[in-house]
Amino acid sequence: MFGRAKEKENQSSRASLELLYNISRELAAALDLRTVLQRVLFLSMKYVGAISGSVIVLDASGQPVESAIITGAQVHDHTTQQLRITFERGLAGWVIRNRQAVLIPDTSRDERWVRRPDDAEDRTGAKSAVSAPILAREELVGVITMVHSRPGFFTHDHLALVQSIADQAGMSILNARLYNESQRHARVMSALANSSAMISSSVRLDEVLQRILEQTMQGLRVEVVSLALLDPSEKELVYRATTNKHGENIVGYRLPVGLGIAGWVVREGAGVIVPDVTTDERFYPEIDRQAGFRTRAVACAPIRQQGKIIGVLQALNPLDGQFDADALSVLTGIGSLAGTAIRHAQLFESLQEAHRHYLELFQDSIDPIILTDWQGNIHEANRQVTGLTNLDINTLRQMNIHDLHVVDADRLGNDFCEVASGKTISYECTLRSAGQSTPVQVFVRKLLFEEEVYLQWILRDITERKNFDDLRNDLLSMIYHDLRSPLANVVSSLDVLQSMLPLDQDPSLRSLLNIAIRSAERISRLTNSLLDIRRLETGQPIVNQQLASPTELIQDALEAVRMIAEGKNQQLISEIQPNLPDLWVDADMIRRVLINLVENAVKYTPSGSEIHVGARQSGEGRLVELWVRDNGPGIPVIDRERIFDKYARLQSKDGPKGFGLGLAFCRLAVEKHGGRIWVDSEGSRGSTFHFLLPVAQEHSKERLAESG
Ligand code: ADP
Repeated sequence: MFGRAKEKENQSSRASLELLYNISRELAAALDLRTVLQRVLFLSMKYVGAISGSVIVLDASGQPVESAIITGAQVHDHTTQQLRITFERGLAGWVIRNRQAVLIPDTSRDERWVRRPDDAEDRTGAKSAVSAPILAREELVGVITMVHSRPGFFTHDHLALVQSIADQAGMSILNARLYNESQRHARVMSALANSSAMISSSVRLDEVLQRILEQTMQGLRVEVVSLALLDPSEKELVYRATTNKHGENIVGYRLPVGLGIAGWVVREGAGVIVPDVTTDERFYPEIDRQAGFRTRAVACAPIRQQGKIIGVLQALNPLDGQFDADALSVLTGIGSLAGTAIRHAQLFESLQEAHRHYLELFQDSIDPIILTDWQGNIHEANRQVTGLTNLDINTLRQMNIHDLHVVDADRLGNDFCEVASGKTISYECTLRSAGQSTPVQVFVRKLLFEEEVYLQWILRDITERKNFDDLRNDLLSMIYHDLRSPLANVVSSLDVLQSMLPLDQDPSLRSLLNIAIRSAERISRLTNSLLDIRRLETGQPIVNQQLASPTELIQDALEAVRMIAEGKNQQLISEIQPNLPDLWVDADMIRRVLINLVENAVKYTPSGSEIHVGARQSGEGRLVELWVRDNGPGIPVIDRERIFDKYARLQSKDGPKGFGLGLAFCRLAVEKHGGRIWVDSEGSRGSTFHFLLPVAQEHSKERLAESG
């Protein structure tokens, strides 16, 4: 009796040893987690005589990552979802929490046994079960459960056997899990690397979106992928692309942030996998209705740009039935890549837009514009240039800017150095092409275009202005020629009258005659100045040079305008340095310059103000500086050069108006004497017109003596 018992015990320990040996041999070669799990299950079922069994594998954080169920000879993989209840509330969960093996002789009497909804074939009634934790190096890596359809079938021996199988398999399962994880990581990495290369190989937004969809389809193996971007208000997601065949119903659809799974992802800033939308209240079926589609499962991840969410990427209905564990990592990875690619595409598009816009401006500009390199070779020209030159763009591209006009090298500087310094240079010249010549005003500046620095030439056609100027000149010369001889008659008649009339006896006669004489003098000054402009412009020299005292010139000028100044209640104040040397000038001309400046001061300055006229030595005694200062409206900086041009007048609504010829005459007259004229103005605190004239030198006095 004793011997038989001993022998039975020996047999059983031999069986255990054999089992353990078989397990270690079976598992030694296997690295794939699913294979390892199936072998462990088959061997355990065989040795304990179970009719079904399951195993759940946990990751380092205790979450189930893989599982298998075997019923009879049938293997079910990817059963983590099915085993969820067992894991959360049932026997497996208890074993995991207590790290302790357990024997349940009658499952119908043990509340730890929770029947799975899919457990249809075993729904017959009570069963018996054993379950043991799988440990490796103290770490809990899973739980194994064996089931038999007859209550009371399993004994403590079975329990011990299952536990030793679990102990034996622990290390292999852990290794396989780690291997599986590293494989998955590698897969995710290479999927992302591929996606990255594909997605960023285009910069066109539509293409980029399409590639993101394709890469997501491939990476996740799903029925449909959609992409939505936040609108600028960040309150709505707008569907921008989808692989759904009824995409036109979806693209453009606006989903408020917070609504639907996509809206939830934006609000929470985290991706999510919803394995079954029917049990998830976040799911918003409206989009399905629009698309004529039935969503079963969704993976959704945010699309980020520099950390900020700009949209979502959604993958619907995995082809394998459910998303695998990497789905969210892959989707999140593609989401990040997508953000950068979309940003680049958007930047590229806005650049393209700006480029298009620039070209439109360039082509549609009312001015003819030419772009050349720094040698003057023409690279681009707009439509207006072809119109102006009668040359087509290809001909123009063969030409140099020098072929079209005489470049003003003085103003542009050596090698265009004046333009290179950032200034816009302008000059007038004649454009010659195809046998025609057109007066143009040229504006030259440097221009950065497509990362190259070019010279931009605007050639404004000024034919009309020139014609108008000519007309004005003709009109003016006609007027002063026709005025000169009757005016001379008026002046000489007034002279005769002055000597004939008894002016001492009749003061009103004297005053009337004075008015007539001064007015005639004014008209005569005006006509003389107009004539001088003509003469000086055509390059005629100053002929009537003589010695003239600056003090006398100023006094004459003040005398000439005294009456109109008094009429405006203005005070004329002279500030003349004593003992000023004589000037060597055409005294009549310079007197008219002074009168012009003082008359302007009177004209443009309000009643009751002061006008200062002065002179002092300058230029180490070689020059005399004369000035006229008022406290009128002043001259803006931008106009300080221009007002000396012919016909230049400043804009003023209701101020006094002139011809814009006075200062032009002043400049011509002063410059022809070798002097210089300019204006200073401090904001609106009036203007000071200055001019410099040369002092008479010894040789000029000698010349005067000889001729005298
Ligand atoms: P006109 O006085 O005949 O218009 P000018 O050549 O003498 O022509 O002057 C040109 C322009 O310069 C004037 O139209 C006026 O706008 C401005 N200007 C001249 N002198 C003054 C001044 N002292 N104060 C303010 N503006 C002036």
